[in-house]
Amino acid sequence: MQELLDSFSRKVEYDYDLQNKHLYKKKAGKAKEYYQLAFDENLDEDLKVLHKMYKNDMPFRIYGLHTNLYITSNGYDGLFIDVDIKNSKIKFNQETEEFIVTSNLTVSALVNYTKEMGYDFSPLTGIPGVVGGGVVGNSSYPSVIDKDYSKHFSDFVKKIVVYDFEIGNFIELIPDDNFFGIRDSFLKQANKIKTKYFVKEIVLKADYIGKEEVNRFYNIQIEHRKEALKIDYAEGNAGSFFANRHIRNHVGKAMKGLLLENPSININVNGATFSPDGNMQFRTESNTTDKDVAKFFQHVTNKVKEIYDFDLCKYKEVNILDRDGEIDLNTFIDRNFCE
Ligand SMILES: Cc1cc2nc3c(=O)[nH]c(=O)nc-3n(C[C@H](O)[C@H](O)[C@H](O)COP(=O)(O)OP(=O)(O)OC[C@H]3O[C@@H](n4cnc5c(N)ncnc54)[C@H](O)[C@@H]3O)c2cc1C
Repeated sequence: MQELLDSFSRKVEYDYDLQNKHLYKKKAGKAKEYYQLAFDENLDEDLKVLHKMYKNDMPFRIYGLHTNLYITSNGYDGLFIDVDIKNSKIKFNQETEEFIVTSNLTVSALVNYTKEMGYDFSPLTGIPGVVGGGVVGNSSYPSVIDKDYSKHFSDFVKKIVVYDFEIGNFIELIPDDNFFGIRDSFLKQANKIKTKYFVKEIVLKADYIGKEEVNRFYNIQIEHRKEALKIDYAEGNAGSFFANRHIRNHVGKAMKGLLLENPSININVNGATFSPDGNMQFRTESNTTDKDVAKFFQHVTNKVKEIYDFDLCKYKEVNILDRDGEIDLNTFIDRNFCE
């Protein structure tokens, strides 16, 4: 099996500290192995190596910019793969008015590029991470212009080119009505236990409304998000830990609304807390342990169940990576010995 790891085009690193890769959590464990997948002339060969690893049941996970990831202090007992954002590409097909982008393109680069051409990807303004991560998690932001204007990645995706690790080749997926869900997709589900698909390229289409109008929508959304995002980055916060759309559908308001209405939902367990500022996102401090975080989420989920009769655990948005792969919130709480 070592032979396989040695056959990547660049060196695999071992016992790799994932702390540097964590955007908001202050403590993270190590990955047994670490590799940065580059969009260069070796990409296809590297994917073939991963195909062989898949066939040999050697565990690996693929991430973009980790903005939707909580890594436990146990780290990951497999190959942690980062997708390098260098060499990202965006092409415009004049005839179909579609954009063909590599999955390592940042969402901000997509929005900035297309707004100058008058194509309206403005609903994605302010979403961190790469397009690949946005498609897998069907990211979105509720419209500040008008509720009916809210759009998700799913509203723009026409085609996805993926590498299928089962068959060892590229295939094209054309999403149907069942492909995407709220913060969910066929890809997210298919990769849950074992990584089956790598997203390489996405074909996106948006309405042409002219440069001036897109800039107007973009500015409204940036203005609306600016302060909260500034706080999130300064404090080192996660995005929404729970999927707000599910909460809104059941309870009628987003997580922030619940916290304001019932401050007893929030506690601070050695730094694990919802920030009192901005959009009141989840955050930790440098000495916060996973056990503290588990206690915090146990309290929060119990309180929400008690007050709203709603099971938040089912609607976690952030991916939790533990030694054996991604786990659900109940498993995370159980593993950290909560009573
Ligand atoms: C401050 C802040 C604000 C946020 N605001 C929003 C928001 O407004 N709306 C929103 O929806 N989310 C938001 N988020 C959450 C997060 O930014 C989004 O979910 C984002 O789309 C994740 O992108 P990423 O590149 O960081 O993905 P990662 O966290 O690296 O990965 C997310 C998922 O995508 C998969 N993935 C990534 N690339 C590939 C690939 N090439 N092939 C296969 N699988 C892949 C990963 O395996 C993982 O399952 C926010 C987060 C933060 C920290």
